[in-house]
Amino acid sequence: MKKMIVGNWKMNKTTAEAMVFVKRLKKVKSKADIVMCPAFTALYAVSKLLGKSKIKLGAQNMFYEEKGPYTGEVSPKMLGVDYVILGHSERREYFNETNEEINKKVKAALKNKIKPILCVGESLKQRKAKKAKQVVGNQLKKCLKEVKKNEFSRIIIAYEPIWAIGTGKTATAEQAQEMHSFIRSVVSKIIGVKSSKKLKILYGGSVNPKNIKSIFEMKDIDGALIGGASLKLTSFARMIHLCS
Ligand code: PEP
Repeated sequence: MKKMIVGNWKMNKTTAEAMVFVKRLKKVKSKADIVMCPAFTALYAVSKLLGKSKIKLGAQNMFYEEKGPYTGEVSPKMLGVDYVILGHSERREYFNETNEEINKKVKAALKNKIKPILCVGESLKQRKAKKAKQVVGNQLKKCLKEVKKNEFSRIIIAYEPIWAIGTGKTATAEQAQEMHSFIRSVVSKIIGVKSSKKLKILYGGSVNPKNIKSIFEMKDIDGALIGGASLKLTSFARMIHLCS
């Protein structure tokens, strides 16, 4: 399976800064599928810059309603993107997003032909209590509730252990592989083993040019969701080269 590299810029880069980055990124050769996720404010300008480029555009969040009195929210139809990150742990933690809300967002994205990148992952406390699989299994069950079997081909799962996000601590390749294999087995119970093999499962959590190779060697790791190390073109391009 072709590897996928998703850059999550979080609340970084003005539109002008995003445009400078993307203009340079377009010149980087890649064998992987690349998805860039700038802030809402930069989406339109970046989409115009990308044009017919192979690099795809993603948003970092969206609301599930199509329109209406929801001050400050952005609907799926307004985004103009191919992908949307949903259920990122920062949204769960700082904005109290629940699995139920994330489930509504996943279904709204699919309805609007946007591919959801659904984030799941446990906290350090949950891992230490040996509840990591239980937590991730529950997130998958709730966030994917009522998603039709034939829609799974458009879903990407990102396993992001909370304790590894922005902390410099990465899960070992083996820890990540174990959880990815578990995620695939949970999904295989819904869509069957054959189809579950096609599911893209990304790892996220302090991925950088030094550790990406060992992470990508794992059987069930199909790509990476990258925060901090996607902000500088040199490190982002290095990771793209390393998976070619
Ligand atoms: C993320 O934002 O999804 C992420 C994994 O961040 P970082 O790579 O900085 O840990």
